[in-house]
Amino acid sequence: MDCLFCAIVKGEIPSKKVYEDALCYAFLDIAPQAPVHCLIVPKCHIASADAITKENADVVAHIFSVIPAIAKELSLGDGYRVITNVGENGCQSVKHLHFHILGGKKLSEQMA
Ligand code: AMP
Repeated sequence: MDCLFCAIVKGEIPSKKVYEDALCYAFLDIAPQAPVHCLIVPKCHIASADAITKENADVVAHIFSVIPAIAKELSLGDGYRVITNVGENGCQSVKHLHFHILGGKKLSEQMA
């Protein structure tokens, strides 16, 4: 399977690492949409939030358990937004589950 974020997790494509553990990998977005724009992905391939199941949900819970520490590391104490895009209408461009962590300024009240 040809997956950009699987290749980034494996180190086959370079990225600016923010955090890593056995289950997930966080790195800076290549085209930031906010002063701070980080992505966090499970190391295992899950296509999107629409592919989360009882069987693989533990890694998603794990990701959310480490986001506060990543946000602290990124100096996002004033707040931030966590977003995941799903499918065509959600404008998901990379078909590997990822959560955007956006912050570093007061974000728009509009979400869509
Ligand atoms: P989405 O549109 O929700 O699927 O988000 C995919 C994100 O991946 C976008 O914000 C892209 O800027 C980002 N992206 C694409 N290629 C890379 C890369 N090589 N390194 C870091 N971020 C990337």
